[in-house]
Amino acid sequence: MSADNCTDIESRLQAVHQRIAAAAGKAGRDPAGIRLLAVSKGVGEAGIRQTIATGQHLFGESYIQEAVDKLAALADCPDLEWHFIGPIQRNKTQLIARHFDWVHGLDRLLIAERLNAQRDPARPLNVLIQVNVSGEASKAGIEPAELDALVDGVLRLPHLRLRGLMALPSPDLTQASLQFGQMAGYFQSLRARCPDAAIDTLSMGMSDDLELAVVAGSTMLRIGSAIFGPREYRRAAPD
Ligand SMILES: *Cc1c(COP(=O)(O)O)cnc(C)c1O
Repeated sequence: MSADNCTDIESRLQAVHQRIAAAAGKAGRDPAGIRLLAVSKGVGEAGIRQTIATGQHLFGESYIQEAVDKLAALADCPDLEWHFIGPIQRNKTQLIARHFDWVHGLDRLLIAERLNAQRDPARPLNVLIQVNVSGEASKAGIEPAELDALVDGVLRLPHLRLRGLMALPSPDLTQASLQFGQMAGYFQSLRARCPDAAIDTLSMGMSDDLELAVVAGSTMLRIGSAIFGPREYRRAAPD
């Protein structure tokens, strides 16, 4: 990655922080209650190091092999928090359980049980349950009607720590706004239903819709292209 790209990352990140502060101000929210996850899929080690140098320490990855290689390359960086945000295939749970601090896309008990069995008991894995609020637009995420049952199942697994919910809404901003509102309702119900669990995270909002997500109550934004530039300029690395 060239020096120009490094400067770009810094100024884009600054612009993202300004958008978050402006949206929070409009919504009467404290921006400190909104964590920023830098979605670094397709971004090389140098770009991530540049981002770390600005003080960013939460990173999200979607492709497990790409992520494991980067985590190894960045092992000298202290205090990073790695979030797995991609679809969780059954044969990838071992690597996810071994390398990540958080998982966002949990939507099946079978996957939760595997992650629980494979996780180091000394370091519970933070998990978010993905809810399917975009209907037919996506097959990922649990149906809202089945959410409570999955929550109860996950709460019984000692090596997982349920932290909240995640959503990937429709690309249509009008739809997304409604879906963010729905998610805020599910999140509040979950907190009321499980007062003893450490439910504190509602992961929603990306580069194009972060303002809507902040207004609706998001506590964690997953931002890729607004920080690192359009994805087509980056190395494609699906596995
Ligand atoms: C890629 C990705 C993002 C980031 O999207 P941008 O539009 O680039 O900000 C957020 N969440 C998930 C699950 C993703 O896969």
